[in-house]
Amino acid sequence: MNIDSLCKTHFDTKVAIVTNPKVAGLHLAYLLSKITAKELYIITVPDGEEYKNQESINTILESLFNHRFNRKSLLIAFGGGVIGDMTGYAASIYQRGIDFVQIPTTLLSQVDASVGGKTGMNNSYGKNLIGAFHQPRTVLIDSHFLTTLPSREFGAGVAEIVKMAVTFNKDFFDFLEIADLNDSEVLQEAIKQAVQTKADVVAKDEKEHGIRVALNYGHTFGHVIENETKYKRFLHGEAVAIGMVMANETAVSLDLMSKDEALRVENLLKKYNLPTSYNVESSSSFYETFFLDKKSSDTNITFIIPVGIGDVKITDTIEMQTVIDVLNQFGEV
Ligand code: NAD
Repeated sequence: MNIDSLCKTHFDTKVAIVTNPKVAGLHLAYLLSKITAKELYIITVPDGEEYKNQESINTILESLFNHRFNRKSLLIAFGGGVIGDMTGYAASIYQRGIDFVQIPTTLLSQVDASVGGKTGMNNSYGKNLIGAFHQPRTVLIDSHFLTTLPSREFGAGVAEIVKMAVTFNKDFFDFLEIADLNDSEVLQEAIKQAVQTKADVVAKDEKEHGIRVALNYGHTFGHVIENETKYKRFLHGEAVAIGMVMANETAVSLDLMSKDEALRVENLLKKYNLPTSYNVESSSSFYETFFLDKKSSDTNITFIIPVGIGDVKITDTIEMQTVIDVLNQFGEV
């Protein structure tokens, strides 16, 4: 893993850079000024979550067969989390697995999606239901790419940074409260700390059987919000921001977090223009939608609830009425 400006690197093998037209238009020339290879190919797939599917995977695989890639060849994921997830998945299945490198270009993918080796794609049954654990050979993070990122996408990445701090690292949270992430040096430091926090968690539980689940803080509620708004109104990180506020309210009602701590998290999210409120029209239908979550069983819902700031609890024993009461507080926004 390297968090700095990209260094000039030559790969003595066949390399395919997988990207989309938007990222290529903005940053491919810069990348090609740094990366060379024995043979270098560019594979583009359409931009957008709706293209994180089998058709795009086929486009990537066909191109690799066409150029006679072998097991020593390498893929480079060059884009946000969508490109990273698909490139990693294609690398995991091409000839039973070849190496890939992550060069993430959104804040969310730099601090979260590129780290930890989860890869995947969507199908008609839902998001990220097909995939594999396949660790990248390395992750190269260059904050230069973030200069062209729209502010909402930037905020979505900040939400995931706040997630890492609240769940695992109080000192990091204290740092974020006084930091200005619009300052590039401060941002670089925050990226380093977020990546380190995630890498430490993944090192303890790569396949998400235990503590790694806690990185889904804000996501259990957030996924329902994305589902109810048909993935159109909020970016993923924005839905997670509201989800964290809901998880915090749950923690307050269980005496696991003080009102003041919940307010500190909310204020930090607001500082980066992240949404923190949502009109829950029907608490019972919101609750039913929790059961679509991959972490939940047919009868129990797994919640990730903060314990103060810097610690977290994974539980599937919260009473339904407790959650409904919290959701009712969001009913008249
Ligand atoms: P994204 O990849 O869709 O990128 C968001 C938009 O920004 C796209 O239009 C993209 O082309 C554009 N873009 C990328 N880099 C840019 C740049 N430097 N300047 C301007 N525009 C740029 O979205 P994302 O938020 O990066 O990632 C979300 C995806 O990541 C989801 O599919 C999610 O499931 C996945 N994810 C995976 C993991 C994991 O552990 N594998 C973790 C979190 C999220």
